Amino acid sequence: MIKAVLTIDDIASNNTPAIVDYLNEKGIKCVMFAWGAMVESHYDAALYALKNGIIVGNHSYSHPNFSKLSLDECIEEIEKNEQILNELYEKAGVVRKYRPFRFPYGDKGGANKDALQRYLAEKGFDKLSDSHIPYEWWKEKGLDKDIDTFWTFDLAEYNIRKGSGFTADDVLKRIYDTSPSEGASILAPDGGHIILLHAHDETEELVPGYYKQFLDILLENGVTFTEPKFTGKE
Ligand SMILES: [Zn+2]
Repeated sequence: MIKAVLTIDDIASNNTPAIVDYLNEKGIKCVMFAWGAMVESHYDAALYALKNGIIVGNHSYSHPNFSKLSLDECIEEIEKNEQILNELYEKAGVVRKYRPFRFPYGDKGGANKDALQRYLAEKGFDKLSDSHIPYEWWKEKGLDKDIDTFWTFDLAEYNIRKGSGFTADDVLKRIYDTSPSEGASILAPDGGHIILLHAHDETEELVPGYYKQFLDILLENGVTFTEPKFTGKE
């Protein structure tokens, strides 16, 4: 069995509600990571996600590279978005049970990495449970200890941009790759994953329904999406 928890980054966007509808139709639970500035500019789409059962996590306010910021600037990025998300949950009439965090670009803050992990722990951010992830490298890299939400498989479909030359076929190659240079092969038997997808409008424009296309292939190949659980709250 291949067990996977789905995470979708960079909401809110124009295509967020359609993605939410698709996930609910398929019975797939997921965490969507929102950045504050995108919530402000696509407020109704963010509300729609919350009202329709999505767990919305913190992905900073303006999506910077945290290794290029001072510790104070990193914390400001996180806290500014916390306020926006608290208000969003309140407006949606949804209790905020979980507060997962994902660093933009998976950039854990360089020299401030340890201080940021301590900060996330002290502030009660929730660790997405990774007890289903069987890979040695996950532990060797200390990802089993980190509070932030990393991933084992990146669909990398955000590379589908005008002029990038990266196409839907390149995403398919990644899905069927049995020995990827980083992360874990998504279709190998007995896998356990955190999958990374994005809610980018530019991807939707170039490959309409891209998320259906890619997630349907995973479903057809035996990937079972499991409900996101959080360490200490399972
Ligand atoms: Zn992002």
